[in-house]
Amino acid sequence: MRICLRSQFDMVENCDIKVENGGYGLTAANNTNRVFAGRIGKPKVATCPNCGEISIYIENTEDIKKA
Ligand SMILES: [Zn+2]
Repeated sequence: MRICLRSQFDMVENCDIKVENGGYGLTAANNTNRVFAGRIGKPKVATCPNCGEISIYIENTEDIKKA
């Protein structure tokens, strides 16, 4: 469970990031020089129902540790 850094409320997790008016999502990568290289996963969003703070995170941190 993620806790809001501003108001210490429980955040709503596992929301997707979508580009408005497009079917595209975002991918986080540690190396953008090569196509498909260094991808570390699909970012998720957690939102705070109290203050509206958003937090972007990667669910599987094992790939980041390996990278
Ligand atoms: Zn908050």
